[in-house]
Amino acid sequence: MYIAKLSKETFAQAIKEIKTVVIPIGSIEAHGSHCPLSTDIIVPEHILSLMEKTHGDKILIAPSVNYGYTPSLAYFPGTVHISGETLTNYVFELAQGWVKWGAEYIILFNGHGGNTAALTLVANKVAESGATCVLVNWWQNYSKEILEICDAQGHAGEDETSVVLAIDPDLVDMSKAGVHDKQLMASIFAPDAIHYSYPDALNGDARKASVEKGEAIYEAVCQSFAKMLERLWAKDWTDNKPI
Ligand SMILES: [Zn+2]
Repeated sequence: MYIAKLSKETFAQAIKEIKTVVIPIGSIEAHGSHCPLSTDIIVPEHILSLMEKTHGDKILIAPSVNYGYTPSLAYFPGTVHISGETLTNYVFELAQGWVKWGAEYIILFNGHGGNTAALTLVANKVAESGATCVLVNWWQNYSKEILEICDAQGHAGEDETSVVLAIDPDLVDMSKAGVHDKQLMASIFAPDAIHYSYPDALNGDARKASVEKGEAIYEAVCQSFAKMLERLWAKDWTDNKPI
């Protein structure tokens, strides 16, 4: 159920039954020369629109956080970067707002790698305040499933370009889809590191992307996310670990 579509009366009724609020979080930033600046938010929103069809009576989908922490890509036209402190405080206060109205589970459904550190702080702060918080970095949590469909994962690469294509092929200019198959040999932070790691705001091989791969990724991610939700609610929180 989309919170933004409810009235104060229908929201008050819904939150009595549905205790899980999912907040989509992304970034406005360069994605190669072929994908839109909104890639990191339209993909989580699309995953959640599919989840709405099957789990609309079990999750409340909150309005999105469009902007994120993206200092490394700030060099490219159209990227808007907000600080880690601002992102942490803003998302935590949003989460607290939903907890105040009765949410017991907050799911931070993240589409952008740069947000991960700030959102980990948020998740800990939400837990300290008494609610349960799950941070889902969809491309990481479901990496195993994605790598059964794509050869590799990357920023605006094969997997990410495919999931944008599957939303709308008109969003992608495949004639500009390129390849960059190098990564930094260590976690190097420097003013010019971007020219080594993402010279065209791309890492991976976008030329291998397709609508079919994107659709297969959505199906796999939704199935795995749905299983995770059931286990979350059942408090089935651990997996066997080989010793
Ligand atoms: Zn991205």
